[in-house]
Amino acid sequence: MPRFSKRSKQALETCHEDLQKLMNEAIKYYDFSVLCGYRGEEAQNKAFEQGYSKVKFPNGRHNERPSTAVDCAPYPIKWNREFRWRFAFMAGVITTVAKQLDIEIEWGGDWQKWKDRPHFQLKLKENK
Ligand SMILES: [Zn+2]
Repeated sequence: MPRFSKRSKQALETCHEDLQKLMNEAIKYYDFSVLCGYRGEEAQNKAFEQGYSKVKFPNGRHNERPSTAVDCAPYPIKWNREFRWRFAFMAGVITTVAKQLDIEIEWGGDWQKWKDRPHFQLKLKENK
């Protein structure tokens, strides 16, 4: 059974408890790494400048404390185009487990304008 590295665990610990519960269950079925949970001002603005995020601090879901967004990547991590299907596979596992746990999430890979495949965020009722 796959399990998280120390680095993944530390990143996950900065996330909302529902995301922690979800990812700690999903890892039993598919091996992936948690890249990022909470992002402070410097990290967020760097992500913005590098094109990994569309918003500046403090407007991102990663800027909430605890973070209501988490970035994950299938392990071993490969960013090439031909391995994109692995992100969709991972998202399938994670969204299935989320349904079982009754946790409502959105996958960035489902967005129309800008696909953010590593990104998962809690659907917050007050925002909808
Ligand atoms: Zn993200």
